[in-house]
Amino acid sequence: MNSVLFPLGPLETNCYLVHDNSRAFIIDVGGDPAEVIAYLREHNLSLTHILCTHLHFDHTLGVQALAGATGATAYASDKDRFLLEESSYGAPQAGKTAFVNLDPGSFPLLSATCAVLSTPGHTPGGLSFHFPEFRTVFVGDSLFYRSIGRTDFSGGDFPTLTSSIRSRLFTLPDETVAYPGHGPHTSIGEEKRFNPYVGAAA
Ligand SMILES: [Zn+2]
Repeated sequence: MNSVLFPLGPLETNCYLVHDNSRAFIIDVGGDPAEVIAYLREHNLSLTHILCTHLHFDHTLGVQALAGATGATAYASDKDRFLLEESSYGAPQAGKTAFVNLDPGSFPLLSATCAVLSTPGHTPGGLSFHFPEFRTVFVGDSLFYRSIGRTDFSGGDFPTLTSSIRSRLFTLPDETVAYPGHGPHTSIGEEKRFNPYVGAAA
């Protein structure tokens, strides 16, 4: 697996591009995807999936442009669809972007399995994407390095978020690397021990 990080948009949201020799998928597109498109062309990659961990504007601003340029399909949970009608911080929303609903379950992606985990709390439709073969999970704004996501936005709920983290993320193997929507990556084992909100010290 090759993984490339592009911090995009006003909040420098982590946009992860994962690819093999010919195919690619993307996690979240928080701003102008020009450099992502350039990378895809330079490496002759076909982008098939745009996976959105949730539908806050800082994770979706560039989805429509990227889907339009590549023909890739964008996926998110229907439970977050109401967020597309809201404008956060007065920023433009991805209201016209077409998303295909993604429910919890598994499907093949590149040479691996993508397990879609329901991790609500930051938003009602929050998803995490676990790739057992890559020992990797993309967690959006649910879990951060030594922190967790905000729960004061529309539909957010603190007990729901901590329950999602404990039951769906902390049950993954300790060595699983967790890639969040903002800031540095961490591991499930490290956060189980050291996270002040949901770890052993909480
Ligand atoms: Zn968010």
